[in-house]
Amino acid sequence: GPRCLAVPPSVMDSIVLQERLVERLLSPRPQAQRSHPARLKDHEKQYVGFATLPNQVHRKSVKKGFDFTLMVAGESGLGKSTLVNSLFLTDLYKDRKLLNAEERINQTVEIVKHTVDIEEKGVKLKLTIVDTPGFGDAVNNTECWKPITDYIDQQFEQYFRDESGLNRKNIQDNRVHCCLYFISPFGHGLRPVDVEFMKALHEKVNIVPLIAKADCLIPSEIRKLKERIREEIDKFGIKVYQFPECDSDEDEEFKQQDRELKESAPFAVIGSNTVVEAKGQRVRGRLYPWGIVEVENQAHCDFVKLRNMLIRTHMHDLKDVTCDVHYENYRAQCIQQMTSKLTQDNRIESPIPILPLPTPDTETEKLIKMKDEEVRPISAQASLVLEQE
Ligand code: GDP
Repeated sequence: GPRCLAVPPSVMDSIVLQERLVERLLSPRPQAQRSHPARLKDHEKQYVGFATLPNQVHRKSVKKGFDFTLMVAGESGLGKSTLVNSLFLTDLYKDRKLLNAEERINQTVEIVKHTVDIEEKGVKLKLTIVDTPGFGDAVNNTECWKPITDYIDQQFEQYFRDESGLNRKNIQDNRVHCCLYFISPFGHGLRPVDVEFMKALHEKVNIVPLIAKADCLIPSEIRKLKERIREEIDKFGIKVYQFPECDSDEDEEFKQQDRELKESAPFAVIGSNTVVEAKGQRVRGRLYPWGIVEVENQAHCDFVKLRNMLIRTHMHDLKDVTCDVHYENYRAQCIQQMTSKLTQDNRIESPIPILPLPTPDTETEKLIKMKDEEVRPISAQASLVLEQE
């Protein structure tokens, strides 16, 4: 009867609501609330649109900003801090405390990190300079590179931990992307400590060797010293940073620059913290009684080449090589050590820890026994039949 159809109002409400919900779900979606980032023009409709990917990547990386970590190493007094200041036009070393002779002799290698945020045309760069002061000052220089190699390894280790940890998205990358190694202009090439130092580091970091204080030498002396250093780098099997091959589709001007860059290595550099007047222009330079040496004058030194290489042309490659070669080496070693330790601990051959197999409980064992018993007479009969045939 009609009484059966009487449904309490609350239930009725919920049925109506459900029906409406189903209707909503089935009906076509209303126009998306967010407006399209850009209306497609007619001629663009024939493309899928992935040609905009570089722009998207560009926008994203500009927003996020860039980071770069540069290490400077070499004997103290060779002009490392002056050069860094000249390179990035910042005074990174305002608070530096200069040590007296006695302190310098006893000084162990102490690593200092300076970070500056620089911005140019809206692009942010977080620059970290890792200074290794005092290297080569101490009377005993054996293993003076140890704290430096340890530092590089520690950064790799930290990255490795972060990468395998829970917060992979916000990893702070402190890996050293490049090490400027300062060579004295007063020697006849590499000193034993230079060779040992670079060999200790070359598998861990991109080494860019530099001839320091190039204003102390005349052009022919610089040429000779460069040649000598190149030969010695070869002879001792030192692996310095190799500039990548220039793409064949680059324009001629770029190719020419690339050739000059490669021919100029190791760069002979001059640094200065003072601005002087040369031919009516204010430039970074060193004022001598006989004239002015200009830091940014390509006829005077390779400073501009070095700066262009570091900032304009090869920063990305330096980071790639750090990540793909040096860090990858570290990571492989790490994993190898971890697995060999595991196999030692477990005394098993496999690098993968073998889980203990579950032992069957007594109840299961009983059942298996029973089944065995049941099967036995049948199999005995079967073999009998086989024998008869
Ligand atoms: P660091 O100990 O390697 O960081 O060396 P500094 O940058 O403190 O420089 C040591 C001294 O060398 C200072 O007196 C600088 O003015 C001077 N100096 C720095 N760069 C040059 C250079 O390119 N040529 C010359 N002649 N002197 C320099």
